[in-house]
Amino acid sequence: MPESHFHPDTLVIHAGQRPEPVTGAVMPPIFTSSTYAQKSPGEHTGFEYSRSHNPTRYALERMVALLEGSTIAESDDPSRGGYAFASGLAAMDCVLELLNAGDEVVCMDDVYGGSNRQLRMVKARSQGLKEKFVDMTDLSKLESALTPRTRLVWIETPTNPMLKIVDLAAIAKLVHGRCAPAKFGPAPNGGIADGCLLVCDNTFASPINQRPLSLGFDVAMHSATKYLGGHSDVVGGLLATADLEIARRIRYHQNAVGAVMGAFDAYLVLRGIKTLALRMERHNQSALKIARWLETHPKVDSVIYPGLPSHPQHAIARKQMVGPGGEGGKGGTVGGRGGFGGMITFYLKGDLAASRRFLERVHLFTLAESLGGVESLIEHPAIMTHASVPAAQRDELGIADNLIRLSVGIEDADDLIADLEHGFAGV
Ligand SMILES: *Cc1c(COP(=O)(O)O)cnc(C)c1O
Repeated sequence: MPESHFHPDTLVIHAGQRPEPVTGAVMPPIFTSSTYAQKSPGEHTGFEYSRSHNPTRYALERMVALLEGSTIAESDDPSRGGYAFASGLAAMDCVLELLNAGDEVVCMDDVYGGSNRQLRMVKARSQGLKEKFVDMTDLSKLESALTPRTRLVWIETPTNPMLKIVDLAAIAKLVHGRCAPAKFGPAPNGGIADGCLLVCDNTFASPINQRPLSLGFDVAMHSATKYLGGHSDVVGGLLATADLEIARRIRYHQNAVGAVMGAFDAYLVLRGIKTLALRMERHNQSALKIARWLETHPKVDSVIYPGLPSHPQHAIARKQMVGPGGEGGKGGTVGGRGGFGGMITFYLKGDLAASRRFLERVHLFTLAESLGGVESLIEHPAIMTHASVPAAQRDELGIADNLIRLSVGIEDADDLIADLEHGFAGV
């Protein structure tokens, strides 16, 4: 049976994996060697230098490529369309290096702060990229932002921290109806000469809940620091594509620019992915339970969670994160696949002082930035993760002093609810 037919529960264990050929080691060893012996000048085993080729990194890259639905054969590309980087932002940087100076980029308005910063504060200056930030929950806004010179559309869904959902299939249809698929200049380093590349930051959903490539996207990007790693002990980034031409350009730039993931980190992320399907199932179930509980709580003003019918894009989330015949109500798993994720935001009834008291009283939820780990985290976007967003823009997006963000971990959901209740008692 081809690997692409396996259920995600099986893929996370086996995709692109095989025993190490010399010793039979079942788990890929951490290959720390920076260089590899050659028999005769230029005659090597496919491994020359570890920035370019590393067996541990390849094992992770193949895994993520297949999890995201790549069908590229290993004979065409040793990592099958998956590429690992030192961080999520390094992965984004590699995509932006595929553009030429002065190209136009259309970006979702509510994206990870660091992604916004890289575009606005770095690439606008160093590459002269021309950026438009638009709310793509309104497709007409995207349509009017596209021009014949748009070379990249960058989206994120669910977004951070407002958990907006954008319709991936509808966006792919619109963008690829208006712009031809990206065509590259001459190999090996030619940038996007014509057409448009469509990229989805899939960090918040994980490939268990959402597969952008299957919905018409060209590239899926991850901060592996979050759900893929899953244990808050590694920083990394990944790209995956099912298109061999795009794969070759990413591979070239990954090596030529050089922000690759190290072998130790690749090992940690691969180890994390083995339990990704199990972890996401629990994240999905517990977050849905906690979101429903919060929605009835007298000290909560409103809850934003894609799995609640009150979410403005609930129907889209159901379609693209849960799938046909999906029963989000059963805890967000459909035949073990899909759900609405582990992130919840809500508005507390109260002011900044009330938010502070609440955040100081919870114990199981650790007050910290980041997300996607086995442990539950809680944070205050206006003061913490989104402090760099100007106050006026925060107001516009709804990032108020009483907005709280939860990353629901895999602890017992009732223990987590009791912890939140203890927090509310002090508000
Ligand atoms: C964390 C994050 C990033 C950046 O990833 P790093 O690994 O921190 O560089 C990008 N996008 C999203 C959605 C994130 O949550």
